[in-house]
Amino acid sequence: MSHHDERTFVMAKPDAVQRGLIGEIVSRLEGKGLTMVGGKFMQIDEELAHEHYAEHEGKPFFEGLVEFITSGPVFAMVWEGADATRQVRRLMGETDAQEAAPGTIRGDLGNDLGHNLIHGSDHEDEGANEREIELFFDDSELVDWEHDTAAWVYEDA
Ligand code: UDP
Repeated sequence: MSHHDERTFVMAKPDAVQRGLIGEIVSRLEGKGLTMVGGKFMQIDEELAHEHYAEHEGKPFFEGLVEFITSGPVFAMVWEGADATRQVRRLMGETDAQEAAPGTIRGDLGNDLGHNLIHGSDHEDEGANEREIELFFDDSELVDWEHDTAAWVYEDA
């Protein structure tokens, strides 16, 4: 893999789906020059929710979080690019959408700590991106391809 090939897990949460913001979220990641290599519209069940948010088990917001993330369909995605995990986090903005900076997805479109539209793997948690990709996608669901625009996105492509 080249250094433009880091993969990260991203999800438009149920509030984003309900509010018709899937396209907007995809568009912002595309605009940055990231490449979608997997995507599926799906319903998360209790078991997957518990597994995905295992690190938050026992915290006061955990049950509400599981209820929210299973409350309606999500659009789960895998995105690829240089430093993709951290770049997606930068585009997402802070967890609390009330505090997230304008220009970020949460800052521009969100209003709430719980209902904050988007999930992206934590870049400070080593390997979280690969773990989450595996949890949601089979290898066969990921597409190996390269944008024809790569040479225009990256100076050293
Ligand atoms: N969350 C919440 N209350 C809190 C903290 C987090 O409802 O006090 C929810 C929120 O939807 C957040 C998710 O739990 O996106 C996971 O929390 P994390 O700290 O991992 O934030 P993220 O990585 O999504 O920014």
